[in-house]
Amino acid sequence: MQPPQLSPEDRARALAKAGAARKRRAEVKAQIKSGNYSLSQVFELSKSDEAVAKMRVFELLESISGVGKVRARSVMERLNISPTRRIQGLGAKQLPALLSEFASPTLIERGKLLVLSGPGGVGKSTVAKELRKEAKFYVSVSATTRTPRHNEHNGIDYFFITDAEFEARKSAGDFLEWAEFAGAKYATPKAQVEDALTRGKNVLLEIDIAGAEQVRKVSDEAILVFLEPPSWEELVNRLEARGTDSEERRAHRLELAQEELAHAPNFDHRIVNHSVTQVLSELVSLTS
Ligand code: 5GP
Repeated sequence: MQPPQLSPEDRARALAKAGAARKRRAEVKAQIKSGNYSLSQVFELSKSDEAVAKMRVFELLESISGVGKVRARSVMERLNISPTRRIQGLGAKQLPALLSEFASPTLIERGKLLVLSGPGGVGKSTVAKELRKEAKFYVSVSATTRTPRHNEHNGIDYFFITDAEFEARKSAGDFLEWAEFAGAKYATPKAQVEDALTRGKNVLLEIDIAGAEQVRKVSDEAILVFLEPPSWEELVNRLEARGTDSEERRAHRLELAQEELAHAPNFDHRIVNHSVTQVLSELVSLTS
C-alpha cells in the first residue's frame, strides 16, 4: 500500500486525532472499570462516537471489573468474535449475545478465586466449613474416590464417586485440577467454580498442594493461600487427635505434611491458623 502524500500539517492533524481517540477510549475504559458505564451504554455511545466505535471488543470486555483477559478471551472464543474485532464490526447476533453474557444494569463484578491449601491436619476443612456460612462465598465441593467418613454427606462434603466415574469425568475435561492424595483421587469440578465466579461469588477451593499448583498454571486469577500451623508440634497433635484415620494413614499424612510445608514459599499469601475467626477474616480481606 502506498502511503498518502501528506503535508507536515496533515500528519500533525492525523496524529493529534489518533491521540485524542486513544485518550477518549482510555476514559471510557476507566468508566467501565469503575462500573459507571454498562456494556449497553458503551454500545449506545459507539453509535455516535467514532473513537468508541473503534475500540477493540477485547479491550472493552477486559475492562469490565472482575472480567480480565482470560474470561474476555474465552467469551469471545465462545461467541465466535475474532480477537481483533472492533465494536463497530460486531455482528447482528454477537451484540445481543454479549449483552446477555454480561446482563445486569450495573455489571456483576466477577468473584475472586481463593485457593486454600496447606498440610493435611492444619485445619483447612474447618475453615472451609465456616466460610460456607458467608453469603458472598461459594465453597467448591470436590469429587473424590475415597470412602465417606461417618459424618460426611454426599454432595455436601464431597461428591463421592467411583474410580471409573472419576476417570470418565477427567477425560471429559470436567475438572479444573485433580490430584491423588493418600491413595484416593480428588478433583475440583470446573463448571461449578466458573458459574459461581460469574454470579459474583467469591469461590474457595480447599485442596492439596499439588492441586493448588495446577490451578496456578491454568488460572491467572487464582489467589493461592497457604495455611500454616502455629508450630510443627501443633500439627502433630492435630493429626494424632484425628480418630477417623488408621494409624498407618496418620503416619503417612505426617510424612506428607513435612514435604508439603516446604511448598509454602510458592504461595501468594501465608496465613497462620491461630484461630478459625482470624483465618476467616484474613481470607475475607483478600477478596476486597
Ligand atoms: P480429606 O480426605 O482429609 O478430606 O482430604 C485430603 C486432602 O485432599 C486434603 O489436603 C484436601 O485439601 C485435599 N482435597 C480435597 N478436595 C480436593 C480437590 O478437589 N483437589 C485436590 N487437589 N485436593 C483436594
